[in-house]
Amino acid sequence: MNALKRLFPFHGGLKTVRHKAESNQSPIQPGALPRQLTVPLRQHIGAIAKPLVQPGDRVLKGQMIGQADGYISAAIHAPTSGIVAAVESRHVPHPSGLPDLCVVIDSDGEERWIDREPVDYRHRHPSELRNILRNAGIVGLGGAGFPSAVKLNLSGSDDLETLILNGAECEPWITCDDRLMRERAAGIVAGLRVMAHLLKPRDVLIGIEEDKPEAIAAMSEACAGTDYQVRPIPTRYPSGSVKQLVKLLTGKETPVEGLPVDVGVQCFNVATAYAVHRVVDHGEPLISRVVTVTGQVKQPGNIEALLGTAFADLVEQCGGYREGVERLIMGGPMMGFALHSDEVPVTKAANCILAASAAELTPEQPVMPCIRCSACVEVCPADLLPQQLYWHARAREFDKAQDHHLFSCIECGCCSYVCPSHIPLVQYYRYAKNEIWAQEKEKQKAELARQRHQARVERLEREKQEREAKLRQKAPAKAPLSPSPSPTRGEGSTVVVSDRDG
Ligand code: SF4
Ligand code: SF4
Repeated sequence: MNALKRLFPFHGGLKTVRHKAESNQSPIQPGALPRQLTVPLRQHIGAIAKPLVQPGDRVLKGQMIGQADGYISAAIHAPTSGIVAAVESRHVPHPSGLPDLCVVIDSDGEERWIDREPVDYRHRHPSELRNILRNAGIVGLGGAGFPSAVKLNLSGSDDLETLILNGAECEPWITCDDRLMRERAAGIVAGLRVMAHLLKPRDVLIGIEEDKPEAIAAMSEACAGTDYQVRPIPTRYPSGSVKQLVKLLTGKETPVEGLPVDVGVQCFNVATAYAVHRVVDHGEPLISRVVTVTGQVKQPGNIEALLGTAFADLVEQCGGYREGVERLIMGGPMMGFALHSDEVPVTKAANCILAASAAELTPEQPVMPCIRCSACVEVCPADLLPQQLYWHARAREFDKAQDHHLFSCIECGCCSYVCPSHIPLVQYYRYAKNEIWAQEKEKQKAELARQRHQARVERLEREKQEREAKLRQKAPAKAPLSPSPSPTRGEGSTVVVSDRDG
């Protein structure tokens, strides 16, 4: 095992006000069982899961209610036992505020589990083990929601050099990973062992920001006797962003349009490793996650919530709102997004609910023209030119924005944070990305329509030619090309029917 002891600082980033102590002082609380759970069938990147239940069906806790549909997809499970009340569109936590297909379950209060079987992972074929994790609905719990089985498959490429477990948790206010590492380090390391078994990395590194000494101690203790290295990293936002963490721990630069795996590194969140442990050692699919509930609530803390629990229920469990809540944010203040309502359900990506007052939000200030001060360039951890991206996005010059690597922007918000002209830069980048995606979709639709039209024209032409060929085959019998003597009545039994007979 290499002794990777050095750190390799990434460009840019910020020291932010942390606000961690508000929620990290008390142990994780189990979430109260809600009367009704709204479980979205899309809680991951990729295709929406196919519903396996219908209204009136009785389900058990942990039963699969949505099947992964395609390679990049994940299964969805009933978080408790009860009756399916509906399979319909409901509002989900998403920046668009648009509804999505959900399974609504009326809890029976009995919490009756499916049969649970631990998995002897060392004696399973890797593809079988990945399939078990996929069917258990395991996705990245750091917020991205990418199906883990896909990342655990190196598809015959070279051996992995480094497996990184991400315990950085750099975003202000969020403490769910901190509490999980303090309280359940052994489970996290058990899940990490399964990941390492599948990926066979040369090194396993666990990156944790220095402002979490208890988590560092607990994880170090859990790793005793293994080759896994716990690596404290400077408290600097956004050290928990994947490419920045890879750079920090290994010195490797992930290619602009590439993935860490392109440089021999794979990265998972600590909560994802814990979820893998629950599958393998307890036979439990992913039906709950730890959520930080903080900001203007009476008793901030961390709750292990069943997926599908309404955010409002978690706020109530934390004593309710305090005065002066301006906005409800899912995720942190830097990379999170405002929710339209607190009635939306907890999903696999929901690491934090921040009830923000005006003081916690960047005060709305009048937007001034860009003064080309380059402050945004200095803090950009992705080494981009944020002001150029802004100009191109504003002018709808999307090709030029892409030439300036718009899609390498991780939307960390550092540039907006420091901009003296108070330009909401990230909003421009999101707008440009959405426009490009929409245009791409339109192009694909047009291309599909063109292909369909072409196929139809070819089919009609083919049918026409087949018809004509048939007619040509029949023609000699119907209308002889050379005149032949007409049989006289009574000669033989054949009556020649001419075309004129119609
Ligand atoms: S920080 Fe703001 S004002 Fe300065 S160059 Fe960037 S966009 Fe322009
Ligand atoms: S939001 Fe994008 S452009 Fe701005 S600092 Fe972060 S990565 Fe750079």
